[in-house]
Amino acid sequence: MKKVFEAIHLLKDEKDEPICSYIYDLDHLKKHVEFVTRALPQNCHMYYAMKANSEERILRTVHPYVKGFEVASIGEVKKARAVNSSVPIIFGGPGKTDKELASAISENVQLIHVESINELKRLAMIAEYLNKRVSILLRVNLRGPFPSATLHMAGRPTQFGIDEAQIEEAIQLALSYQSLQLEGFHFHSISNNLDNTGHIELIRIYCQKAKQWSRKYKFPLIYMNVGGGIGVNFSNLEQQFNWELFTGELQKIIVQENMGNVVIIFECGRFLTSSCGYYAVEVIDIKETHGKTFVVVCGGTQHFRLPVSWQHNHPFELMPLERWHYPFERKAVVNEKVTMVGQLCTPKDVFAKDVSINQLRIGDVIVFLYAGAYGWSISHHDFLSHPHPQHTFLETEIELKV
Ligand SMILES: *Cc1c(COP(=O)(O)O)cnc(C)c1O
Repeated sequence: MKKVFEAIHLLKDEKDEPICSYIYDLDHLKKHVEFVTRALPQNCHMYYAMKANSEERILRTVHPYVKGFEVASIGEVKKARAVNSSVPIIFGGPGKTDKELASAISENVQLIHVESINELKRLAMIAEYLNKRVSILLRVNLRGPFPSATLHMAGRPTQFGIDEAQIEEAIQLALSYQSLQLEGFHFHSISNNLDNTGHIELIRIYCQKAKQWSRKYKFPLIYMNVGGGIGVNFSNLEQQFNWELFTGELQKIIVQENMGNVVIIFECGRFLTSSCGYYAVEVIDIKETHGKTFVVVCGGTQHFRLPVSWQHNHPFELMPLERWHYPFERKAVVNEKVTMVGQLCTPKDVFAKDVSINQLRIGDVIVFLYAGAYGWSISHHDFLSHPHPQHTFLETEIELKV
């Protein structure tokens, strides 16, 4: 946090304008991703789901620690290739066009995650036409029941994957094509899960299903993709998903379920990049209407849509700035509940509602934490045409000792 505050002071010294900046702590990102990947059992490979944040500096920082990138468009394939022309890429997402499938094949992606029977048929044709044999995983939409989490991707009607009831048909079809090689299954059934025990039980279900199908249809199970969905706890930052416990239990499951010879793929987004990012915005006004206090910041949810999208109060830290060059009194709120809003002309432009603060003045800075994933990347940057925030990447130069 100290580093972030220092960076904000530097920004302010550079240009005496209200602060509006994303700040990414790349040193933290390195350490975190290294910790996460190092704890994984040997047959588990971590891929970074780049939709969480595909800024080039982020991809370059994550790249040395992960096996590759999970992408869902040709644009993302290009971003991955720009970082490293031979980095392993796994390609998923509902609604892939023929052109996208053909591009993915020519870009030599490692695996394509097939999301429907129609897509399977189209992919087989395109691969045959290109005279390629393409490795695929079938994405399964399981019937459940599942451990609880805030956002479910399967076990209920969604646009993702092939319904479990149709999976045997899909397997038989996939095995019938010369141009396709069925190498396993893809399960991404849950999002923002904070419960490490529940997550383990989910993976146990995946193991059992995948093995059962590979046994029944007599094809080797090479990969099992268990998706992302490891959560970030925004309401209590001290109490995050217990990755050490989880990976310890995972090792046991691998032995119990006899999965040592299968490559288990993780494709995490949020869990890798959320904690390295900050969205720092200066307070430009404080006012009361109808008995409520509003803090208006320089910025808005067009830069940082996450709190609106998840309907939560986003965690923050306050940073006092001692500059004030107006000839009148600096307005402040002390020990009050405030609602933090942006510059947009819509009542939905809210970052946090009725949150308690000790002291906040016009000209101070609010630093929203855990803004590194699904922050800038999911926001509609040009609504109202305000300037974009600055993007600042903090990275300690490594001193080479000769
Ligand atoms: C979005 C997505 C992920 C990453 O999800 P996180 O919750 O950020 O870990 C992984 N796999 C698929 C298929 C996705 O759509």
